Amino acid sequence: MRTTLSVIAFLVAASATAYAQCTCDLAKVKNGWCTDCKVGYFDGAKVASKQLYGALEGKTVDAAALKCDGCKEARKKDGYCDHCHVGYVHNKSYGSKIAYALAKGEAVAPAKITCDACKKNAADHGWCDGCKAGMVGPVMFKDKAAYDEAVKARAILVEAGKNKCDGCAVAMATDGKCDECKVSYKE
Ligand SMILES: [Zn+2]
Ligand SMILES: [Zn+2]
Ligand SMILES: [Zn+2]
Ligand SMILES: [Zn+2]
Repeated sequence: MRTTLSVIAFLVAASATAYAQCTCDLAKVKNGWCTDCKVGYFDGAKVASKQLYGALEGKTVDAAALKCDGCKEARKKDGYCDHCHVGYVHNKSYGSKIAYALAKGEAVAPAKITCDACKKNAADHGWCDGCKAGMVGPVMFKDKAAYDEAVKARAILVEAGKNKCDGCAVAMATDGKCDECKVSYKE
């Protein structure tokens, strides 16, 4: 009996540690949020505001619930619905053009990058002519236009993140308006 109890105690302790553990490494390649550090990532760019991260985060799409034809089409081909201002990538919807542009790449584990130029690009961003691929942080883009969009998007995101007002940061990233400051942002 005593053994069973101590095993349970050990399991509880182990899961408690796991919960508090930093998941930044995973978050970096999954455009995720680390609960421990209270920081999110989009293509390697840090997002320190939970509100901003939430506005950018992809939401799983319920295809049956889509009413707009533009959205239905966009969902099928990872496109953008200009009518609703929603982008779709891998069955997730993005209410921000920036997040949509950043979500279009494929995350690559740093250890899997064999080309030196690409490895260097992954530290920030850059296009490699040899591989015909661009890196934006740990995320790879095979399409030059999509890569260019992502570079632009990340620059806006970094700018937005510097904002002291959370509402303004979100408005900047979503081409919206900050109700607090009564300021509108476009591109
Ligand atoms: Zn962390
Ligand atoms: Zn639509
Ligand atoms: Zn390369
Ligand atoms: Zn504001």
